Amino acid sequence: MEKIIVLIGAPGAGKGTQARLLEERRGIPQISTGDMFREMKTLDTPLAKEVQEIMASGKLISDDITYRIVRERTSKDDTKGSYVLDGYPRTAVQAEQLEELAKEQGKEIIAIEVDVPRDELMKRLTGRRSCPECGEIYNIYSKPPKAEGVCDEHPQTPLSHRADDTEEKVAVRLATYDEQTKPLLEYYANSGRLTKIDGTGDIEGIFKDLEGVLS
Ligand SMILES: [Zn+2]
Repeated sequence: MEKIIVLIGAPGAGKGTQARLLEERRGIPQISTGDMFREMKTLDTPLAKEVQEIMASGKLISDDITYRIVRERTSKDDTKGSYVLDGYPRTAVQAEQLEELAKEQGKEIIAIEVDVPRDELMKRLTGRRSCPECGEIYNIYSKPPKAEGVCDEHPQTPLSHRADDTEEKVAVRLATYDEQTKPLLEYYANSGRLTKIDGTGDIEGIFKDLEGVLS
């Protein structure tokens, strides 16, 4: 049976990287809510026009509208087979709505949590530095530049640290994530469809685990 793969992971857990690998190596398209909303701004469908009006008015996009966006996007040819959802569902209500879609499309839902311990996420997110010159990303813990504080290619350019990568702000983002995602994890765990994979270690190893879950 074709699958709807729901990837769940905290900021910094690397689920985006894994979703990209699934697309590149297995041809499983990655459908992300961010991309869908961006697409809605330029499309000319009745739904897109409705979404554009809501956005222009500054109102929030409801669960029902979000569901219709996902439904419209996944009715295209590239999602006839299995696909990965990134950033959807976010709540238990959205998860229930997704059941309808799965039924309609004749697919089974499988939820995979990319699990990374809190202190590791903290390091990944607060350790991030980037070169304003070339955009190269470093991490002071896991991928330090050759000389402290400057880009390998641009030794005259001090690396920059994003204002929302401070420990305090990252802690808030992670707490928000936990709070929002807990009901979702419970929803899938209670229906026996949640698999946890270890999101620490190297990217290839994590991908192997992911493939193992899907096979
Ligand atoms: Zn540089």
